[in-house]
Amino acid sequence: MPEGPEVESVRLELRQLISKTVETIQLTPLSQKYSKYKGKQPLFDQFRKKRILDIVRFGKFLVWRFDGIEAVILNHLGMSGKWCLFMDIENLPTNASHIKVIVKLKDPPNAVFDDTRNFGQFKVFHSLEEVKQYNPIRYLGVDGLASPFPLKEFLTRLAKRNFENKPVGEVLLNQRLVAGVGNIYKTESLFHAKINPLRKVGTLSDAEREELGLAIGEILQKALQDKGSTMAFQPYELPSGTTGNAQQWHKVYNREGEPCYVCNTEITRIVQKNRSTFYCPQCQQ
Ligand SMILES: [Zn+2]
Repeated sequence: MPEGPEVESVRLELRQLISKTVETIQLTPLSQKYSKYKGKQPLFDQFRKKRILDIVRFGKFLVWRFDGIEAVILNHLGMSGKWCLFMDIENLPTNASHIKVIVKLKDPPNAVFDDTRNFGQFKVFHSLEEVKQYNPIRYLGVDGLASPFPLKEFLTRLAKRNFENKPVGEVLLNQRLVAGVGNIYKTESLFHAKINPLRKVGTLSDAEREELGLAIGEILQKALQDKGSTMAFQPYELPSGTTGNAQQWHKVYNREGEPCYVCNTEITRIVQKNRSTFYCPQCQQ
């Protein structure tokens, strides 16, 4: 699933659409098989002839704003959603097989939202204010991609009593703590901070908590610089059709049974809340 660095990388490329005028935002016939898109076309017709004002990010959500209209579009990439930019509206991109939305602009490029696994969102809200009150956004924790990383607020949130007895590997996936962290960068951050994912949050020293916050900030920034991670089971692509490069420096993620780069111990895989977590039992105690 795309995490903060992937979503932000997508946003940065989509920004080339800013100030372009929408011809149509069209839901495809395929999209009408899914309840979340079915019959919603009239809601998207209000964006005709409007200029794209901005595309902003909240955690793993993108929000499209338009000139001269309060309504906005909330977009989540879900498991496999991706945007493809293309020049000729007569020829839809060939690297897209489950196109749900076609954004036709007055001047190319145009854009399609392709979502093979159907967990993505593309939804109209009355206003940006309404989006901010939408629970998955309203309760987001610190933005893991903020620079500098908001360490102080992270520490305050981590100290909340409901996290105390939970394993840190689980807690880090809670978007109310840090928005934008998912399974891959959680796993890498814990290795970087030398913390075992099974440790209960309550057992972490002040120094370890600080180390963890700094590791998250560093790992997410590094992943953003490399435009995210693309792997066989995360076939993430940027709107330009290129892929991410961050997978090249993963130290533990998806390396079960392989030797730790630091100490040669075999990397262990465990399952926490139905998600695979990888760690070095020697480096992360
Ligand atoms: Zn090791």
